[in-house]
Amino acid sequence: MKENSLVTDDLVARDLAHVWHPCTQMKDHEQFPIIPIARGQGVWLEDFDGNKYIDAISSWWVNIFGHANQTIGAAIAKQTQQLEHVLLAGFSHQPIIHLSEQLVEITPEPLQKCFYADNGSSAVEVSLKMSFHYWKNIGKPKKKKFVTLQNSYHGETLGALSVGDVALYKDTYKSLLLDVITVPGADSYNMEPGEQTEDYVLRMFTYMEETLSEHHEEISAVIVEPLVQCAGSMRMYDAKYLTLLRAACDKYNVHLIADEIAVGFGRTGTMFACEPANISPDFMCLSKGLTGGYLPLSVVLTTNQIYDAFYDDYETMRGFLHSHSYTGNPLACAAALATLSIFHNRDTIQRNKNLIQRIKENGQRFENHPNIGQVRQTGMIFAVEMVEDKAAKTPHPWQQRRGLKAYKHALSKHILLRPLGNVLYFMPPYIIEPEQIDLVLEVMEEAVNVAVAN
Ligand SMILES: *Cc1c(COP(=O)(O)O)cnc(C)c1O
Repeated sequence: MKENSLVTDDLVARDLAHVWHPCTQMKDHEQFPIIPIARGQGVWLEDFDGNKYIDAISSWWVNIFGHANQTIGAAIAKQTQQLEHVLLAGFSHQPIIHLSEQLVEITPEPLQKCFYADNGSSAVEVSLKMSFHYWKNIGKPKKKKFVTLQNSYHGETLGALSVGDVALYKDTYKSLLLDVITVPGADSYNMEPGEQTEDYVLRMFTYMEETLSEHHEEISAVIVEPLVQCAGSMRMYDAKYLTLLRAACDKYNVHLIADEIAVGFGRTGTMFACEPANISPDFMCLSKGLTGGYLPLSVVLTTNQIYDAFYDDYETMRGFLHSHSYTGNPLACAAALATLSIFHNRDTIQRNKNLIQRIKENGQRFENHPNIGQVRQTGMIFAVEMVEDKAAKTPHPWQQRRGLKAYKHALSKHILLRPLGNVLYFMPPYIIEPEQIDLVLEVMEEAVNVAVAN
């Protein structure tokens, strides 16, 4: 990186005077300067000094077709000329009708109704409230507990934080949160050496089975991130777990909430991560890639059966009286429609198969690395976990902040990799070129070497 220019210095100082950044100990910026970004194009972000960076993490997993995408940009611009916003209570508009039809079309068959919000956490809140409210409406008000998997993440608002299990974000606020049941999942990192995946999943599922069997009368729903726990260090598990979970939820009369906010829209190789398990949840939460990373929008899809339990005369007070000011914003819907049109026209899921293979071949360079505890990949998500001792999988003490060293190195090589603790991951926009994949993984290896040194 070049020395900061005067423009950058000025922007950084003015930023720090008034902007409080997300997920950040602001004092860190005494050492690591904020990087003001002037423009984006495709996989590239460019700062005010002309330095370019490959956005190898899709700007927190939202960007799927690149920055300054013509199709999406034009669709939003067109929509601004027509209708920027109207309240969705009592009113409707074409973008939301088209979008709802298309979402119902591409998600599993039983999902027929779309309820909108404007960010992922809010979608999770909607699904929790709807699940609880459903049981109340059908005369089972005791069903009000939620079951979540260890190491899961569902957002930052208090309800969403309650059903998450990442200590870094949750512990401080524990006394404010809902009481939930946390169950070990089938995280492939914890498999015994030599154990078969199928056996492992069956073994781990017994915890869920026991919980449901014992507490189902007070359980409203189980919430999971299908296949990949993204904020939980990109830990991955086999689809078989979801198949077992769907069957158990049916058996014990408990809802299944699939939080596909990060994994939906092709991230795991299929359009939705539930597909390989061949299941349909009772609630599916979507956001992030939904608008191609352009505008905040989220949606909860659910079944007619659930919808019907709310459908009654007003006086029964069964209606779902939840709203957000920007629910179903037309500009965001236009961005989502443009995003879906790109999926369709480019045959993205098929085209991604080559990129997934390229990542896989390239990622093998880490297999024998003495400081990598696991190399994992599910579709367009690749991660390596840095450890002090490979055999024992001893983690580096978190205080050493080795991920940060990797981040700095990658940035100096013009790659934006923002690790999760000791885990470096690669989750690129789908328009990335094969040669750029090679480059990112090469730099990632260097970054690991720098980070684990002494
Ligand atoms: C990002 C994320 C959320 C929260 O979405 P926000 O838009 O950041 O509120 C919820 N669940 C999962 C799985 C996520 O990755």
